[in-house]
Amino acid sequence: MVTGGSRGIGRAICLALARAGDVVAFNHFDPDESAAEETLELLEAKGVACEGQRFDVSDPEQVRQYIDHLVDTYGRLDVLVNNAGITMDALMVRMSLEQFERVIRVNLVGAFVCLQAAAKVMMKQRSGCVVNVASVVGAIGNVGQANYASSKAGLMGLTKTAARELAARNVRVNAVAPGYIETAMTEAMPQRAQEAMKAMIPMGRAGQPEDVADVVAFLCSDEARYLTGQVVHVSGGMYM
Ligand code: NDP
Repeated sequence: MVTGGSRGIGRAICLALARAGDVVAFNHFDPDESAAEETLELLEAKGVACEGQRFDVSDPEQVRQYIDHLVDTYGRLDVLVNNAGITMDALMVRMSLEQFERVIRVNLVGAFVCLQAAAKVMMKQRSGCVVNVASVVGAIGNVGQANYASSKAGLMGLTKTAARELAARNVRVNAVAPGYIETAMTEAMPQRAQEAMKAMIPMGRAGQPEDVADVVAFLCSDEARYLTGQVVHVSGGMYM
């Protein structure tokens, strides 16, 4: 299951995880279903079974119901990718409490709620893999993103704690911390901020959703079987 799989990095993760015989499930939040439908078509074209559902990742009841539905229908849950995320940027001194709390609610509380529900299933299975999508700004901060950077730093702490608590049950928990990736989220940034971010990338190019998705797929694969509690920065060297 991938949260926020309808577009951007989440869609690329759904596609990178799609292997014959597997079921890829994702959720999204926008009442306009067109992006979600496009993701389903792309998955079907790869020949995998898939489903998409609209609900708010920060609503614990809906999350629990959906994970119950997945387990009832398919019998198990092997992978959870906490990818859904939003920004509501403002300089810290001007940021409203609502702006701060909403971003924490979706990015951090939402991931916690999904992780908790999935962990119960994975612990029983004695296997499972979780990847949280954090951000480079969770490690280095960013002007105008007190809420977002806090949520992503929180995700890194959550990742390491969950990894320690679940390791003995053969459940691995890791995070990726993307840098500047070309999606609708970064397209919405002011042009000047976009240029400033790009200037910070040693590899000299913005990332693509697939650059992140391939690392997530690796973390979920058997090749990464001895890897847990790690935050892998996928940022073209922005953070090192
Ligand atoms: P997009 O804005 O392109 O996509 C966000 C996805 O999250 C959409 O599928 C959206 O669904 C879903 N979503 C948003 N709010 C909710 C919610 N409340 N409940 C369920 N789903 C929700 O973002 P990106 O692809 O750029 O980002 C994906 C992740 O990567 C985020 O966590 C982001 O913070 C992180 N990231 C991105 C970077 C970048 O440079 N782009 C850099 C570092 C981290 P819908 O459209 O239906 O609302």
